[in-house]
Amino acid sequence: MRVASRQDLLLLAGLVTVALIVFSEPLWRLLEHARDVEQASGLTLVPALFLLIAVSLVHLLRKRGEIDAAALAAQTAKHAAEERARELERLVTFGHALARSLDRDAIRAAVAEHLPRIAGTDQVWVLLQKANEWELLLGDQRGDADLAPRVELAARCLSGVHDMSADAGTAGFPLIVGGSAVGVIGVQIGDAGLDPDPRRALEAAAALLAVSLKNADLFREVREHSLRDALTGCFTRPHAMDVIDAELRRARRSQFPVSLVMFDLDHFKDVNDRYGHLCGDTVLSTVGRRMRDVLRGSDLRCRYGGEEFLVLLPETPLHGARRVAETLRREIADRPIPWAGDALTITASFGITQALPAEVNIQALIARADAALYRAKDEGRNCVRIASDTLTVVPRDRKPHLA
Ligand code: GH3
Ligand code: MG
Ligand code: MG
Repeated sequence: MRVASRQDLLLLAGLVTVALIVFSEPLWRLLEHARDVEQASGLTLVPALFLLIAVSLVHLLRKRGEIDAAALAAQTAKHAAEERARELERLVTFGHALARSLDRDAIRAAVAEHLPRIAGTDQVWVLLQKANEWELLLGDQRGDADLAPRVELAARCLSGVHDMSADAGTAGFPLIVGGSAVGVIGVQIGDAGLDPDPRRALEAAAALLAVSLKNADLFREVREHSLRDALTGCFTRPHAMDVIDAELRRARRSQFPVSLVMFDLDHFKDVNDRYGHLCGDTVLSTVGRRMRDVLRGSDLRCRYGGEEFLVLLPETPLHGARRVAETLRREIADRPIPWAGDALTITASFGITQALPAEVNIQALIARADAALYRAKDEGRNCVRIASDTLTVVPRDRKPHLA
């Protein structure tokens, strides 16, 4: 803090001058008296007095300079600390927004809202890399139409040329997680380059974003595994139960028919025993693929147990379901599966049922299909059987033929 301003000094000088003028007479007499004393005592008082005053003034001015410099340094440090605090706050807010984001869209929204603030400019983009493919997560609109130059910059950044300012006016910040690169943040910078503070903030933002992207990928994978069986691509049993439940309720509201097919591979234990479990797994994944080929996208495929499957056919009456089951049966039985130079003929037995009017009891529906499947097994396997109670309760052609 300054002890006296320029105006204060002027005032002081004015006051001193006025005081000298006002007191000139007594001062003059004092000087003469001092000269008398000097002569009488043999001492030199007046020059010493002037020297003392001059030294005091110089000291005062130097002290004042030091205080000014210290005040300026404190002010600068305060500004820097405030800027750091704001920078930290922006990063923390970004971190919170990312922590709430479990998929790409949410991450994209968080990045669009917070990254320009952290970078201090709208000229910031984010490219993500998967295998050799690049995807724009955030664009700055200027070069979004043609990604090629951005991709080239990003690739250069990942190859170790972090600062691309020399030729492109862009600074690149790699998104690295677990030692592998998942993308790049690119920031347009001026001729002076990027100051250390925003550079540090962007490096921290890149680290946060990289971890968040990885998190979202892992979350999606875990979710996918809990929903789908990896071997056959069918829904897992718990997830399928939820979907069937929702479908039954929807069917009750819409009054459209919904049918269920249950099938089980015949003598599958023999396949494992003769050819090994690896072969058994190949058969299961082939069956999963054929289900995908034969069924509609809206049909629900579920691996109910080891070699037992459920197919829910929305908006499909019983005779439509029978046709679907027959097609699936032929698709499995008529196309042998190659294995170690052999061609394995696999068959399956099918049971089908249709949901009763207003039926929402999923267990009862499955039990009927299971009973029909049991009959198919009993009556020679490799065939389709309809649940007998369904035939009597559900009138044929209750609804238009949809399958
Ligand atoms: P059935 O015609 O009466 O259905 O006879 P099955 O041999 O198919 O029936 P069973 O229930 O006796 O055998 C089912 C076999 O399916 C036994 C089990 O080892 C096998 N299995 C279940 N899950 C898998 C799997 O994920 N991979 C492999 N390789 N085999 C499996
Ligand atoms: Mg079986
Ligand atoms: Mg079985």
